[in-house]
This record gives sequence, structure tokens and C-alpha cells, in this order.
Amino acid sequence: MSPLVNAAEIAEAARILRDGGLVAFPTETVYGLGADATSDRAVARVYEAKGRPTFNPLIVHVPDLAAAEKLGEFPAPARRLAEVFWPGPLTIVVPRRKDCPVSLLASAGLPSLALRVPAHPIAQGLLKAVDRPVVAPSANPSGRMSPTTAAHVRAGLGRKVDLILDGGACRVGVESTIVGFLGREPQLLRPGGIVREDIERVMGHRLATASAGDAPVAPGQLESHYAPHAALRLDAERRRSGEIYLGFGKRDGDRNLSPSGDLVEAAANLFRMLHELDETGTKSIAVAPIPHEGLGEAINDRLRRAAAPRSRE
Ligand code: AMP
Ligand code: MG
Repeated sequence: MSPLVNAAEIAEAARILRDGGLVAFPTETVYGLGADATSDRAVARVYEAKGRPTFNPLIVHVPDLAAAEKLGEFPAPARRLAEVFWPGPLTIVVPRRKDCPVSLLASAGLPSLALRVPAHPIAQGLLKAVDRPVVAPSANPSGRMSPTTAAHVRAGLGRKVDLILDGGACRVGVESTIVGFLGREPQLLRPGGIVREDIERVMGHRLATASAGDAPVAPGQLESHYAPHAALRLDAERRRSGEIYLGFGKRDGDRNLSPSGDLVEAAANLFRMLHELDETGTKSIAVAPIPHEGLGEAINDRLRRAAAPRSRE
């Protein structure tokens, strides 16, 4: 596995992940904050631990291309890139498969999925042992530098992580290159560990670069995110006639984000419940007030964007 981490530690880490816990582990790029990608609740804990003010979509890690193809629809050029560069610091964004079990919160409600197969032997060992897709954004508090040693992770996240697998320093130290296969032509969504020229050589042509307005794409360009078809009315104390009500805490409704008023539970339920209510074909969803503390900031940010007037493609 690695001289620094033995098989028993990997097994313990896999058990923690399957139980919904958080495990920081080394990849060849930076240390990732890992959680079971199929669990809304585990994914919500990742956002909470990082203290992110927004739900940006997370990269889903799997041990190989076969596992990736169970989650996303790979067009032929995407498969070719995967065959050449995986395992390695390349993330491929593709449409999510209909039967994909990954939490909607992990992709921030988007119909796409960012997938990566890391090369690091500890990451590989862990992913095989978990036998589930794992989200793993960089293991640092939001707005701080990405960690390239276990000590960085400990200093930044401390007791918010259930276990840190210490594999020494990361080799690449910059994040993965992200290539998207969502539109007519592939796009470079984020430069990273694998250089553009190497990707272009394999593709046999130049790679378009995402520009602002080509949503949903790279960090900072995710404005036109998941938006429901229904209009949203926020901070609604009660339901008005014709509305469907999404409750929180004691304000109960057609669905309740968290009857006990727990913000981690509310984050875990947010996208799924919005989708479910939207699928009823309602014209208007009223949402109960959500406190602005902790994960409430990210929940309110997402609701505000979903409620904002938007252009439809
Ligand atoms: P990281 O913070 O390194 O985990 O990278 C996350 C980044 O991956 C996000 O900020 C997006 O740029 C990109 N990403 C993740 N999931 C998606 C997705 N479903 N569609 C488009 N981009 C994505
Ligand atoms: Mg990061």
C-alpha cells in the first residue's frame, strides 16, 4: 500500500467512510476530505467541515474507469482521455447516468458529475476498500490553501475529521485538470496537474477554454446552477394558496428539510427535496426561513440563486 499506511488503517478508514464519517487521505494532487458520495448526510458534513459559504459541486473519486462508467455517461473522446490519463490528476465532467446513486448535494443539484481516478496508492487502496464513490474536495477550511501534508490537514480541520491517513507529502501539489464533456465540444474547465498540450495531443485537436457564461463550469462560474422550474418564495412564514411548502424545524410543510431544525440534515435534504417538489409540477414553492448560521449560509445562498430570475436555455 504505502510504507506509511498499513492495510488495517485502510480497512478502518473504509469502515468510517461507509458509516458516514470523514476521512482525509492523500492523493497525488493534494489531501482530500473524503466522504461517501452516495450519502446526502456525509456530503453535507463535508461542506460543514470546510465551512463553505456555497455548495459548489464536488469531485467524485472512484478506483477505475469501469466504476466511473457506472455513474456517468462517457462519450468516446472522454473514454479515450480516461484510458490515457487515469489513474492521474485529470477530472472528467460528464452527464450523470439516470441510475447514478451519487448524492445530488455532491453535484450541487447539477445533472452532471465530475469524476476522477487518483493514482496515489493510499487513495487507490481506500477507494477499492470502500467500494463506493467518494467525494474528496481539498481537506482545508474554505478560503485557505490546499493541504499537501497530513500536518496541514490537522492544522486546518483538526477534530472535524474522523481520521487522517498520513501518506507524506503530495507529489503534484496542484489540483487536477478538469475537462468537461457536456456540450458539443470538450472544454478545459480548470487548468491543473495535467497540462493542456498533453490532453490536446491525445484528443488530436485544440481544447476550448470555458469562458464566463458557459455554465455550469469552473469555480466562480457556477452562477446559473440548478434552478427549479417552479418559482421560489423564500423566508416564507407560512404557505399561501396554490403553493407547495418546504418546511424547516417547527414550520412543517409538504416536505420538511429538518423537523428537528438541524442544518446538516437540511443541507443533506435540500437538493433532493427541491427536485421532488419541482417534479410535482407546482408553479410555486414557498420555503420556510432558514437560520443564517453555520451551513445555513450555504443553504440560503443556494436558495437565493434558485429563486433569482434567470434566463433559460
Ligand atoms: P475541488 O474543489 O478541487 O474538489 O474541485 C471542485 C470543482 O470541480 C468545482 O469547483 C467545479 O469547478 C468542478 N466540478 C465539480 N463537479 C462538477 C460538475 N458536476 N459540473 C461541472 N463542474 C464540476
Ligand atoms: Mg480546494
